[in-house]
Parts: sequence; C-alpha cells; structure tokens
Amino acid sequence: MAPSDVATTPVDLVSPTWEYAPAPQAIDVVDIASSYGLFIDGDWVDTIDGSETATLNPATEEELAHYTVAGPADVDRAVSAARTAFNSWSRLTPSTRGGYLYRIARIIQERAREFAVLESLDNGKPIKESRDVDVPTAAAHFFYHAGWADKLDWAGLGPDPRPLGVAAQVIPWNFPLLMLAWKVAPALACGNTVVLKPAETTPLTALLFADVCRQADLPPGVVNIVTGAGDTGAALVAHPDVDKVAFTGSTGVGKAIARQVAGSDKRVTLELGGKAANIVFDDAAMDQAVDGIVNGIFFNQGHVCCAGSRLLVQENVHDEVVDRLTDRLSTLRLGDPLDKNTDIGAVNSAAQLDRITQLSATGEAEGARRWELECAIPTNGFWFRPTVFTEVEPSHTIAREEIFGPVLSVLTFRTPDEAVAKANNTPYGLSAGVWTEKGSRILEMAARLRAGVVWANTFNRFDPTSPFGGYKESGYGREGGRHGLSAYLKPAA
Ligand code: NAD
Repeated sequence: MAPSDVATTPVDLVSPTWEYAPAPQAIDVVDIASSYGLFIDGDWVDTIDGSETATLNPATEEELAHYTVAGPADVDRAVSAARTAFNSWSRLTPSTRGGYLYRIARIIQERAREFAVLESLDNGKPIKESRDVDVPTAAAHFFYHAGWADKLDWAGLGPDPRPLGVAAQVIPWNFPLLMLAWKVAPALACGNTVVLKPAETTPLTALLFADVCRQADLPPGVVNIVTGAGDTGAALVAHPDVDKVAFTGSTGVGKAIARQVAGSDKRVTLELGGKAANIVFDDAAMDQAVDGIVNGIFFNQGHVCCAGSRLLVQENVHDEVVDRLTDRLSTLRLGDPLDKNTDIGAVNSAAQLDRITQLSATGEAEGARRWELECAIPTNGFWFRPTVFTEVEPSHTIAREEIFGPVLSVLTFRTPDEAVAKANNTPYGLSAGVWTEKGSRILEMAARLRAGVVWANTFNRFDPTSPFGGYKESGYGREGGRHGLSAYLKPAA
C-alpha cells in the first residue's frame, strides 16, 4: 500500500473490528452411503434380527445416513467370525501382524482429510480439531502398536506372552475414530481379534475404518464392526465366547458391565468418566495457564473424559485469572464445525445438550455465578455457549458431577494441602493439571493427586506411548504405552 493510500484509507485504528472471512472445509472428499450394513468377516452384511436407524449432523440436525442396529444374532455372527479369525491371526508371525498395522496407519494418514471431515460431520467437533488431533493421533496409535507387534517378548510381561482371544470393544461418541484406534491397535498388535461397537450417534468413521481394513487386506474376521446402541453393546459384552471386554464410556454403564461380567473369566478394562481438577498456583506463567485452562475444558466442546472441568485457583490470583480467562474466551468463535476458524463446534446430541443445560441451571440455582460467551447461536443444531461458573462451593452439583460439556466450575484454595484435598474430593480420578513454575511442587502434587494422568504446565496432551486410565470410579486398566499391552496379553501357560 502506498503512503498516500494509508492517509486516505478509512481504518479505525483505535478499536478496529476484525472479522474472519468464512473458511469452509470442502466436504466433497467424503462419500457417505445412504445406508450401511454390518461389517462382519471382511464383508458388508445385512442384519439377521436387527433394525435400522439414522445418524444426524448435530450442527444442522440433518440426517447423514441410515445404519444398522445389530441384534443378538448379528452379534453372535460377528463374535463367531472373530473366533474363527483368531485361530490364524494369532499364529501369524508377529512381524506380519505388525505389517498390517503399519499399512492401516499409513492408509489413515493418506485418507486423513476424509476421516477428519466425516468425523466433524457426524460428531460436530471443529474441523481443526479432527484434522490436527483426532486423526493424526489415531494414526499414531496404529504406528506405535505396529512397532510393538514383534517385540512383545520384551514388554516386561514375561517370556512369550499370549493373546487373550476375542475382544469385545465398546466406545463412546466424543472421539469416535481415536477411541477406536486406542482399542483396535493394541488388541491386534497382541494377536487378538475384535468386535467393535461404536456409539449410536457417531458410527460413520468406524464404518469408514471397515473400508480401511479391506484396503489393507486385513484377513476377514480380524476386525468386525457392529453398530447399534446400548442393547447391542450389552449383547456383545455378555457374549459367552468373548474373552476380553474393553469399554470406554460413562461410569454408570461401566458399573453395569462390571456387574454383568462378574463371575465370568472375561478380562475387563473400564475407561470411565472424570471430573478433573486443573490447579493454578500464584507463581504460574499466567498467559500459558489461561490458554491451558481454555484447552482443558473447551477443547472438543468439553466432551472430554479427562477435561479440566474444576478449576482450582490460588485465592490471591483468582480475580486476575478469571478476568484473563473471560477476556480470552471472548475471542472464541462458535459455529460451523466445518469452518477452519471455528473453535467451538456443536454439542453431539439433543440428549447431551439437555444434560448440559440442566446441570448449568442447577449451578445457578445452587448459588454459583454464571458467565457465558456472548455470541450468536445457529438456528438449527445443538449448541451451548462456553460457560464459566465462579463462586462454586465443593458441595455444588456442578463441582461434583461430570457435565461433559463446555462448562467450567471455578473454586479457590490457599495452600497446596487444601488444593490436594479439594482436587481429590471426588469419586473420579482420571486426570489433573498443575500450573506452577516450581519443579519440586509439580513432583509433590503429582505424587499426591489421585489421578491416572497428571499434566504439568500443559493439559490434554495425548501420546500413544503414555498409559492412560483412571483411579476410583474412573475405571481400571490402562490404554497406551507398555502398560496398555498387558490388557491384551496373558503370560505363557
Ligand atoms: P455411555 O456409557 O452412555 O455409552 C458408551 C458406549 O456404551 C456407547 O457405545 C453405548 O452405546 C454403549 N452402551 C450403553 N449402554 C450399554 C450397556 N448396557 N452395555 C454395553 N454397552 C453399552 O457414554 P457416552 O455418553 O457415549 O460417553 C460419555 C462418557 O464416556 C463420559 O462419561 C466420559 O467421561 C466417558 N469417556 C471416558 C473416557 C476414558 O478414557 N476414561 C474416554 C472418553 C469418554
């Protein structure tokens, strides 16, 4: 721009209003079928005793596709295919099994755009998250476990550890492809075969994964995918020919599954709910901490089991942290998940939106002070504004129950002892965060917090090499890392 232009251009330099132009992600990379069957024994098959339902785009409420609700006979057929495949899959040379996993990982990378768009359409999460987090991390899980396939003898689980058999895997809707990868990759690397049931509101990326299995020439029956809701999951978990149950979902359903399989010889891993404390000390790097708080609870609309949903702030910096936090939140953009500038997408379902709305109303009714982002809400779809509650007491419902939405409860503490006591005052124990510049304090807090993962000066970091799992009502067993392998292996007889 020439200097003379500068003088004549009418720009308000005192309070410029910047607005992003729309940056929509093209969706023609995905090819969604009008209806889907079940993926059993390497093929698409029609249901024997099930029915059909539809999955919606939560940002528009439009139907994306019809899919099958598998009945007990379908589940039986899938388990039997997995059992037959187990005989040969478990006897393959470990490096050959690893080769299949590498192939799957590379195909996910090659088809990353397709997976990311489909995930955002079916789940409502912003495309920048499915593109930069969900899909690359899913591929990383397959790469990581591909490497383990021929090194299991050195995993510290005894010489010549053996696969368990057929794994029944049930996953939730918040990270559909990523949760699939967390489950399928270690099971296959260890020589097991699987029957996976995705969540009823997000079946599409699992069904696309079936296509990846075919593209990778995975032997038929090694991965089987049965869609449906709780009844399908219950039939799968209870099936007598299943050796291992791996469940990720709510604590209520996790307890029901634990009761259901009690007394059987099925091995079980439960990855359940959480109510994590994110603890900010007065010496923390404040800008970094505020960004970490935002990432901790507003990433993926707060639909994150390990979300930092309880912010514990040292009392003398409470006002500063809350001011900076609400300033920062005011820059977030809520809207079309397929827009590359969107920070907050749609809530996954009407039922989840109801739950978030009700719990937030309870927060106000019990005396907490509510702040929410001022922003336009699209006419259709399921949306909830990022919300912060201050003046929250430990006894308040919003300080105790998992909301699983973009809602933060702020509490205060004075001393490290009080922070630990408040952080641990929950039936859950999945994750926690600590923000301080003192290394010694980080180590002390990490040792005293009853949480499976403790992040220091960061939050929501996921890495396939690192075990993830809970204490108390957040479940048992670990996924990821060397520890995660032990959930799919038994010592040689
Ligand atoms: P959910 O428990 O309602 O459903 C999870 C899955 O279980 C779905 O596929 C569902 O169809 C199936 N299911 C429902 N009833 C069943 C039954 N009786 N038997 C077998 N399967 C059944 O949970 P959700 O609402 O889909 O997911 C949100 C929950 O998942 C939150 O509590 C969240 O914290 C938790 N979660 C935990 C982790 C973790 O790693 N700990 C990760 C993601 C989500």
